[in-house]
Amino acid sequence: MPGSHSFLKRKSVTSSTLPTLFSPSAQPPSAPPVLPNSSAPSPAHTIIPNIDQERAIDQEDDNDEDGPMEGSGDGLGDEDDAGDDEDGEDDKEDVEEDEDQSKTRQKARKARPLPSWLLEPFRIHVEQSGAAHRDANGLPPLYSRHSTFYFPQPAVFFLLANHTTPSPQTLYNPRFFLWDPLALCKLIPCPKCRCPLNRHNVIPTPRRVVDFDSPIWIIGYRYRCHHCLHPKSGKNTVTFRSWDPRILNNLPPALATEFPAMLSHRSGMAKGVFSFMRLCFQNGMGAKQFSDALRVQHLLSYDNLHLQYLDFIAARHLDRWTGQQYAAFLPFDDISLLGPRAFLPSAQWLRDRYDDFIEEHRLELNQQMALLTAEVCAIDHSHKV
Ligand SMILES: [Zn+2]
Repeated sequence: MPGSHSFLKRKSVTSSTLPTLFSPSAQPPSAPPVLPNSSAPSPAHTIIPNIDQERAIDQEDDNDEDGPMEGSGDGLGDEDDAGDDEDGEDDKEDVEEDEDQSKTRQKARKARPLPSWLLEPFRIHVEQSGAAHRDANGLPPLYSRHSTFYFPQPAVFFLLANHTTPSPQTLYNPRFFLWDPLALCKLIPCPKCRCPLNRHNVIPTPRRVVDFDSPIWIIGYRYRCHHCLHPKSGKNTVTFRSWDPRILNNLPPALATEFPAMLSHRSGMAKGVFSFMRLCFQNGMGAKQFSDALRVQHLLSYDNLHLQYLDFIAARHLDRWTGQQYAAFLPFDDISLLGPRAFLPSAQWLRDRYDDFIEEHRLELNQQMALLTAEVCAIDHSHKV
């Protein structure tokens, strides 16, 4: 897709414009896509701009201190625009939450609204997993009937076929993961006092996790301890999020393994992406290159979606006569409510996740190192002592 090249070079988030409408009558849908050709004049109206082969080579990356071939590793989008819950505090440091303080902060901090293409399916999934739909064992239908943590996700073809006028937002098709371990293990002890936790409420926004070519949106719950007192207010309003590392550590290992992500301050990355990143790091690929590769994967997926959308419209020959119009796809880095809300981690973000992991497993790594024989002692081995 020609569109992806412009994203790769783009440094700043620009567009917040509303999508323009294009009509199949203005651009004959059956016309083949215009191939890049510098000698041919450009048509007046195109859905996808042609590549200008006469354009000067972008100088931005040449000024990079690591040279043009080292990648930018800039990532894309903001980590904190979504996937946040009501208080927006760090999972790892301040999870015990005073409810009143949380509400006060919620008013003070004006969160960016979630787009409707995300919020509507989120609300439907939360409602379907609510107390009214749970079985006698307290299991939501997703667990009891479908035996999975992921909500079924329709294929793009059916989304197109089942809508009379599909829009790009219909095709964003977010993937949701329901994480309510209390329903499955019945008793989770409070990390502080070991008393059983109770389900308090659902976290009002899903947490976004970066996967190989699309995000995962995790639906979580707050669990409340009725015995612990909040150190500031003195009330028993201490709650923990269901994806809190201390909650995960208290689960049966077979259940905790099902949690799909390694979380950061306000976002996270899928475990599969992380283990692949470790392999890449160990085999000579740097964080910048990995960040760029991840971005290309997401852009490719988005471009394929765009192409599928255009192919579908192009096949609707009657629309030319009826004057049917369709919304145009927005750029991948669009931050408006109609954009895809992309977040792709920067190289520094990826390094931080890797460092977190190494810190977490420092003792095991040191133990493993100490067990190795010192066959080559050319370097300082004092760390083995
Ligand atoms: Zn407690």
